[in-house]
Amino acid sequence: MTEETWGRVREELLGVVGRNNYTNWIEPLEFSGLEEGVATFFVPTNFMGDWVSRNFGDQILQRMVATGKSVSRVEFTVPARGGAVVKPAAVRVDAVRPVAGNAPTLSARAAPARSVSELPGAPIDPRFTFDNFVVGKPNELAHAAARRVGEGGPVTFNPLFLYGGVGLGKTHLMHAIANELKTRSPELRVVYLSAEQFMYRFVQALRDKQMMDFKQIFRSVDVLMVDDVQFIAGKDSTQEEFFHTFNALVDQNKQIIISADRAPGEIKDLEDRIKSRLQCGLVVDLHPTDYELRLGVLQTKVENYRVQYPGLEITPGVLEFLAHRITTNVRVLEGALMRLFAFASLVGREITLELAQDCLADVLRASDRKVTIEEIQRKVSEHYNIRLSDMIGPKRVRAIARPRQMAMYLSKQLTSRSLPEIGRRFGGRDHTTVMHGVKKIEELKGLDNQLAEDLELLRRALEA
Ligand code: ADP
Ligand code: MG
Repeated sequence: MTEETWGRVREELLGVVGRNNYTNWIEPLEFSGLEEGVATFFVPTNFMGDWVSRNFGDQILQRMVATGKSVSRVEFTVPARGGAVVKPAAVRVDAVRPVAGNAPTLSARAAPARSVSELPGAPIDPRFTFDNFVVGKPNELAHAAARRVGEGGPVTFNPLFLYGGVGLGKTHLMHAIANELKTRSPELRVVYLSAEQFMYRFVQALRDKQMMDFKQIFRSVDVLMVDDVQFIAGKDSTQEEFFHTFNALVDQNKQIIISADRAPGEIKDLEDRIKSRLQCGLVVDLHPTDYELRLGVLQTKVENYRVQYPGLEITPGVLEFLAHRITTNVRVLEGALMRLFAFASLVGREITLELAQDCLADVLRASDRKVTIEEIQRKVSEHYNIRLSDMIGPKRVRAIARPRQMAMYLSKQLTSRSLPEIGRRFGGRDHTTVMHGVKKIEELKGLDNQLAEDLELLRRALEA
């Protein structure tokens, strides 16, 4: 058993357990080694080890056996701080245990060896729809654009380029478009795949000398979606091929939808001609979540869980707490909620604030992000387009002094630094100068709408 075998097993599991389960439970497993028939995985918490073992242990074991390795047991352990394994915490699954009820159907779905001549692409997940996409300020533009493309009709912007940080809903929106198009026009050939899969298919076609097929297939689709296109940056021949496919489809007026983790112009090692092609259509970004969106997502998901776990009570205030504390992305938020419900049903308790704090300690700690004075200075100078060095330098002109005061104010608000410490970080200024700056901004906040808006914007950006 190697890392690589596990990679393959893991991929198979994705098809079996579904994307959400996969992301929340399988992906975090870290293969540690195979010794005397025991495959060991590291898990972040005991609870997780327990849960994975109960729910997926048999499937993991079965799949590993199917690769031809002699595995008789899988174990999930929390690594000790030093890297050593805490033995007593390990949870094990033995081969002799009866296989879970749904397991036998699994082998039938083992990844088939695909030939290049099939329609390329990954399956569309029917659960990612517009109906269950929660719309808020940070994603309303992206959502509207996606909706429009999902309606079909004449191609108005090509490509649609969606970008934003991880877990903000890019893949969800792409699947939603595909699902919508499929419902409206079942005959449409909609192909969704990750840029990585595109490259993989390309390399495979090269190797098998089936480039003609490859080209023909990709040029015959009606709608092409390529997810996480930043992946092909630096991969020259793949970029080249992507560019030709892209152009061929645009020439035929076929809709293309692309996602990436950043704007086209900001993807390093991407050819300029591709960048400019990508910018030709509509480029929209998904902003970091805000509190309202997070709460909306949680409320929507809880409705689903109520069906799945009837009778589980959730104390008022818990969702608000989570929306407030978990500020990273929707995926983390979802994962946290899933764990919370799983845990509560396991121990048969109501979901209270204490339970949430207990069960999600690691998630809460991880998103307990500390904003630093340096970050504040950087963000504020970027916002006002001044030099970072001026932020801490001696200049007193208003165009620089005001942003400096804003940064001081934000430092006081968002960090636990004292006034003298803040002063020191601002080029060794006196604490009374900082105090004056903070007061000044407090005063102006009530009088100057623009300034108040800027402050709010900066605060959000810093806390995101
Ligand atoms: P990305 O592709 O941007 O990394 P995903 O589309 O995979 O993010 O989203 C991560 C998870 O969060 C998915 O399970 C998705 O359904 C969910 N999600 C993201 N945004 C929303 C939203 N606005 N409403 C409901 N679920 C969302
Ligand atoms: Mg994605």
